[in-house]
Amino acid sequence: MQNYDEIRIENLECFAYHGVKPEENEQGQFFYINAVLYTEIRKVAAEDDLNQTTNYSKVAKYINELMTRETYQLIETVAEKIALSILLEFPLVQKLDLEVRKPDAPINLNFTSISVKITRGWQRVYIATGSNLGDSEQLINTAIGQIKGHPQIRDVRASSLINSTPYGVTDQPDFVNGAVTFHTLLTPYELLEFLQGLEIAAGRGRDNNKGFAVEELQSNFLSSNKSVRWGARTLDLDILLYEDILIDEADLVIPHSDMHNRDFVLTPLISLNRHLKHPVLNRSMKQLLDDLTERYAVT
Ligand code: AMP
Repeated sequence: MQNYDEIRIENLECFAYHGVKPEENEQGQFFYINAVLYTEIRKVAAEDDLNQTTNYSKVAKYINELMTRETYQLIETVAEKIALSILLEFPLVQKLDLEVRKPDAPINLNFTSISVKITRGWQRVYIATGSNLGDSEQLINTAIGQIKGHPQIRDVRASSLINSTPYGVTDQPDFVNGAVTFHTLLTPYELLEFLQGLEIAAGRGRDNNKGFAVEELQSNFLSSNKSVRWGARTLDLDILLYEDILIDEADLVIPHSDMHNRDFVLTPLISLNRHLKHPVLNRSMKQLLDDLTERYAVT
């Protein structure tokens, strides 16, 4: 992630009613908020225009309003809600550190304060789109429209779509493939769930989330409508990269475990960002595509 400038709000005092104990909810207490807003200042500074920057007075008032509008048990929840709300409300803030301090927490011991500090921000994501059943181009474009419509996704850019021959199971129609990049506040698992929802909406069922697809559309080239991995599908949306994050779980692997072996993934990715690097293999997508071409030339 690039280096950002900072706007800091320190020890913003808010009187609110958060807490687990009933007396905290009834009597209230002072909370203190520290916020570091990561943004770009150079251009704004050159223009010297309040309308083009993140107005710290507005942010402070907004935090105070959020602190008092609802009551939560945990300062963890308070911090999470405020961080997300600021990122959504103030578009120039790319990332923020937020600390919620509670000096009068009900503990019968000597202490200065209890606090929770979190860092949240817009995360760069790359996904692959694929389809070889139904009106593939329209299905993919509809999904891109739905992605653009998600309130926690912005700056969506899609590659052009390419046609490719099937990978793995080869006796099925050609695929239409592409890649999409965007910024999101969704966690990797929230994003996976959202994308799986779009696949299902496009007519693709799921069999117990085990990685096997059950197409609702009957296809005449498969003996049953239960397809194996790499089978025909109305819509396939895979998370390729989520910043430089590494996840290796049964239901989610990031970077996508097979992306470097798929020219129909690498080609659209290169068109979106020719400098993009694979965070594990430490090679650019262009180098990976060249490796692949070389491998095919040898075999
Ligand atoms: P597929 O049939 O290729 O769409 O595989 C879907 C299954 O792969 C789902 O059950 C996911 O939980 C799992 N999966 C693992 N890693 C990823 C990823 N990076 N993006 C999407 N699905 C993934």
